[in-house]
This record gives sequence, structure tokens and C-alpha cells, in this order.
Amino acid sequence: MARSARTDVLIVGAGPVGLTLAMDLAWRGIDVLVAERLPADAPVGAKCGQISARSMEVFRRLGIAGKLRTTGLPADYPNDIVSATSVTGIELSRVPIPAWGERGGAVRDESGCAARGPDTSWPTPEHTHRVNQMFFAPVLRAHALAQERIRILNGTEVEAFEQHAQGVTATARGLGGGEPLAIACAYAVGCDGAGSVVRKAIGAAFSGTPELQRVQSTCFRAPELLHMLPGKPAWNYLSLNPRRCGSTLAVDGRETWIMHNFLYRGEADFDAVDRDWALREILGVGPRFRYEVLSKEDWTSRRLVADKLSERRVFICGDAAHVWIPHGGYGMNAGIADAANLAWKLAAALQGWGGQRLLESYDAERQPITEQASRLITAIAERVMAHRRQITSDIERRDAVGDATRARIGQEAYALDAEQQCCGGLNFGYCYDASPVIAYDGEAQPAYTMGSFTPSTVPGCRAPHVWLEGRRSLYDGFGPGYNLLRLDPAARVTGIVEAATARRVPLTVLDVAAREARDLYRHKLVLVRPDQHVAWRGDKEPPAPLALIDLVRGAVTPA
Ligand SMILES: Cc1cc2nc3c(=O)[nH]c(=O)nc-3n(C[C@H](O)[C@H](O)[C@H](O)COP(=O)(O)OP(=O)(O)OC[C@H]3O[C@@H](n4cnc5c(N)ncnc54)[C@H](O)[C@@H]3O)c2cc1C
Repeated sequence: MARSARTDVLIVGAGPVGLTLAMDLAWRGIDVLVAERLPADAPVGAKCGQISARSMEVFRRLGIAGKLRTTGLPADYPNDIVSATSVTGIELSRVPIPAWGERGGAVRDESGCAARGPDTSWPTPEHTHRVNQMFFAPVLRAHALAQERIRILNGTEVEAFEQHAQGVTATARGLGGGEPLAIACAYAVGCDGAGSVVRKAIGAAFSGTPELQRVQSTCFRAPELLHMLPGKPAWNYLSLNPRRCGSTLAVDGRETWIMHNFLYRGEADFDAVDRDWALREILGVGPRFRYEVLSKEDWTSRRLVADKLSERRVFICGDAAHVWIPHGGYGMNAGIADAANLAWKLAAALQGWGGQRLLESYDAERQPITEQASRLITAIAERVMAHRRQITSDIERRDAVGDATRARIGQEAYALDAEQQCCGGLNFGYCYDASPVIAYDGEAQPAYTMGSFTPSTVPGCRAPHVWLEGRRSLYDGFGPGYNLLRLDPAARVTGIVEAATARRVPLTVLDVAAREARDLYRHKLVLVRPDQHVAWRGDKEPPAPLALIDLVRGAVTPA
């Protein structure tokens, strides 16, 4: 007889995106079952190297940022990005990025940061955390397992779905064989990576560019390397020499590194280049240098975005919905943004206050933004590739021509490194500009770019962050539902509060007196959604507050 299980939300895949979605749903009181085909003790890859500032804001809300912050590189290990002729060669440029310990501790406050660099003055309670997946993945898993409302079934592969009016039934199979497992749920979400069965099951199609570049990647142990670095250690070394170009990232700040050797156009397969030779050229070390290969993590970069992210009760998030080249380290982070967008909407539907348009808005908000992000990232990746193609033997000459070449290439490398790795725009600048659950007021949102952003309360934008009295983060004052920020104590809020109560919409009124907030928000009232994006703003309550609440909870069609 087939086995069975029942849950509110079935999540397929316990990668970083699936686990984030599970934690966010559980945090909102929803029962979740996560089916993961790999066994619990499967080794974690070493590819993913940074959690963006915006994702860290999500993790701060979920109470896990502090735990994540203290894992990975040692607290005093610089996060700098260096371009050089090789890891042990001549430095061309250095983007200074402070070690996390220099920024004011685990649950941080940028006021403690003496260092300066392109990402030290962002208005956020959480800067980007440069930490390898092999460190953060176990932290996410342990935190998820500690939540009463989350069950993770490892060794369980989801194979198919059936949708009906009240829910979804998924069929899964244990890796060891045996009877299939029927999982009944109200909603199902595929966080099952680029090869997603869920994406295929809902009839969504990837489109874009199936191959941009191939990369031979090697995770290795080399205790000598740290002592051979010519300058202050860095997190990420981009080697630019005429033989091989590649990037080498510090994993544990002691002896473990991951190297990406960028293959050239004619080098059609991953083994077309001798791995040992390339590794030595990128490091700039001779035949006596000793290292041990820990894993080979070769990958192909693409730009593919699904044409839709949902079909009635089934959704896709993360790599299941979009994949692109990891310039800017944003693939997983975009998936975490998907999860943060979807979690509260599913919770609203299950708790009975979310209307049908709220769930539909997931597609309307996230599909266009991931399409835009994929293009921004691919554009800079193409500039980086073109830059690499300019490298000639002049870069290693010990004369005036060499000096001039290094100065020019170094200046260009600095600009490219800072734009892609200190990408404030990608982190904070995305705005949902065509959503059925946002009350727009005609003002255009600031442009979405990779490197920079303008904090804005244009509906759809991330609510700007400010520090309150006593260096408290504005976000820490937010309740889990909607937050109505009152920036003028005389502004009336009774109509909106009563409308929210009438529709059982969770809402907290937050009085914000800080002058900086009043200057930045420019409105007396700002309604912020549970995912910290602005839903509405004004100087006084709208004439029909119930209509506003019905719009933002997805119960009416916007005019
Ligand atoms: C070299 C490199 C560096 C990168 N660096 C960064 C970075 O610094 N920052 C960043 O944000 N992104 C980075 N990325 C991208 C990032 O690795 C991915 O975007 C991220 O892992 C996607 O997470 P996910 O949870 O969506 O999918 P995955 O991590 O692929 O997880 C999917 C899970 O679903 C499981 N699964 C699949 N099918 C089924 C099924 N049918 N049933 C049950 N389980 C199933 C899989 O076993 C897997 O555990 C990098 C990528 C590369 C290649």
C-alpha cells in the first residue's frame, strides 16, 4: 500500500532556497514538508561564495543572521578583491572590503566600521557576507531542523503532481526503492534546482542563452599558499596573465581555496585544459608547490529564465526558475528573494486573509525582475570576458610598457570588480513595478542598475532602511505582517487599522520619529508589506481604506 503524508506546503528541494522558504513559512506559522532527493549526509559543494546584503536582511528577520555571520572566513580575514598577474604575482588593483569582524560584530552595526570601501556605507543593517556554501549550508539546515513546523525528508525524490480544487498531491519515491509516498498539500513549491521537475510539470519553459562560458573549477587544500601571498590576504583573486585567467577564492582563510579556470572559446570540454598546469599558472607557482584536490566542481554558465513561475497551486523558486552566470554572486540570492516574496503570500492564503491576486502577484513581481537581473549580470559578465581577452604578455613585462599596461588593466579591473562584487543596485534596487497588489501613485521608480541604487519609497521598492534612536534597525521594529509607518504623529491611521482588522490582515502601526526617516520617506504614512516592500504611501489615509486593504491583500483587481 502506498505511504502517505500531509502538510500545508510541500517544498521540493532542500537547497538554500528551499530551506529559506521553509524557514520563512514556519516563521509565519505554516507547516512545511521538504522533500530532498539527496541523503542527509551528502557532501555540500563549494561553489557558492556569498550571501548578499538583502538576503542577510531576510536572514536577520528569521533570526539566523548572527549564526551565519560567525561562520566561514575568520573574523579578521579581509574580504578584499585583488586583480593580479597571478595569485602570487604582481597586484594590479585591490577593492578594499572589511573583514566581518571589523564591521561591528555578528549582529552588526556599520557605525563600528573604520574601514572604507565601496560597500561600507550602504543603508542596511546587514552587509554582504562572504562565506562559502560548505559553511552556511549546514547552518541553514540545522536552523530549519530546529523549527517545529518543518519536516525534512531526505532521500526522497518527488516525481509527479496532480492539482485539484483544494490542493495538490505529489508522488515521491525513496531512493532505496519501496512503496511510493503520496504527499497531500495545499500548495507545492519547486526549489529543485536548474533541472527542476516541477518547472517541467507546470509547463514553464526556460529561455535565454544556454551556454555563455565553461569553467573548470577545483576546490583544493594548500597550506603553503597563504604564506606565499605577496600582500595582505584577500578573499577573491582574479589572475590575469596571457596563459590562464581565473579566480581563486579563500574558503576557510587558512588552507582551503576554490579556483575557477575560465575556459576559452575553442576549449570545448572541461578536460580540454590540463587542470594541474592551469592551477599552477593561475596561482603563479612552480612544480614543487604542493596541493591536494578536494573536489572538482566544473560548471557551465548560462542565462535562462522561466517564462512563468506558477500554475495555480504550484510555484517555482530559485534555480528552478532562473539560472545565470555567477558574476556578482547573485543566483542563490535571487532565489532567496523569490522565497521571501512567496512565503508571506502562501501564509496569507492559508490563513484566509490573502486573495487570489496575491498569489498571482508572485509571478507578476518576480518573473520580470529576474529577467532584468539576468540581463544586468550577463552584461557585466560579457564586459569581464572582453577585458580578459585583452590580456597580452605586456602585463608581465618588467619595464615601462609593463608598468603602463598594469596600470591600465588594473584600473579597469578595479571598476569591474567593484561593480560586480559590491553590487548595491542588484541587492536593493529592484522594484515591483507592475504588480496587482501594489497601490502605485504615478512616481517612477529609480533605475535598476547593478552597481548603485537610490533608496526610495516609490510603491514596489524596498522600504529604505534607517537606524533609529539607540542604533536600532528600523527593520527590527517591524511586525511579521504589514507595517504602517507613521512619520507624523498627528496623522490618523484609524481607518486603515479598522480595515485591516475587518479583513483579518495582520498590521502593526510603527511610529517613526527619526529625522532621517522623515526626510527619506517624504510621506506621513507608508504601508510596508511583510517582505519589506512598499505597498502604498500618502500624507493621509485614502478615502476608502477598505479598498486599499483589499487591493494590497489581492482581493480586488486594480482599476
Ligand atoms: C561557481 C558558482 C558560484 C556561485 N556563487 C554564488 C554566490 O556567491 N551567491 C549566489 O547567490 N549564488 C551563487 N551561485 C549560484 C548558486 O549556487 C545557485 O543559484 C543556488 O545553489 C541555487 O539554489 P537552489 O536552492 O535554488 O537550488 P539547488 O542548490 O540546486 O538545490 C536544489 C535541491 O533540490 C534537490 N532536488 C532536485 N530535484 C529534486 C526532486 N525531484 N525531488 C527532491 N529533491 C530534488 C537537489 O538535490 C538539491 O538539493 C554560484 C554558482 C556557481 C556555479
